[in-house]
Amino acid sequence: MNVGIDFDYTITDNPGFFRELSEVLMRASNGVYVVSSYSKADEPMAEEIFTEKTRMLKEWGIPFKELYLAPEPIADNKAAYCNDHSIGLMIDDTIENLKAINKRAKGTVCLQYIGNASPE
Ligand SMILES: [Mg+2]
Repeated sequence: MNVGIDFDYTITDNPGFFRELSEVLMRASNGVYVVSSYSKADEPMAEEIFTEKTRMLKEWGIPFKELYLAPEPIADNKAAYCNDHSIGLMIDDTIENLKAINKRAKGTVCLQYIGNASPE
């Protein structure tokens, strides 16, 4: 199964846990896809953000197949990505993203991550 994991307030909230999870998944031939995003304001910095997030994932030792940064509208683009990459399970802290994925990516089961750093 391909598994999508959000970056901000999900992996960043507990990198040790997501390293273990990703290692277990990848060892059992599952694909781990980091499904992140950037805001309209950050668009000119997209390349730098991609480089920095890649660096952080490597520093935490998190194995992954691909890092994707969804542009706005973020929820819709995350849903399209889940569809296109046959993501069977998506973990994200933002309920709006999960609602859009649940609606548009019919093959994706959604789990909300609630961590210590998740915004209210
Ligand atoms: Mg997030």
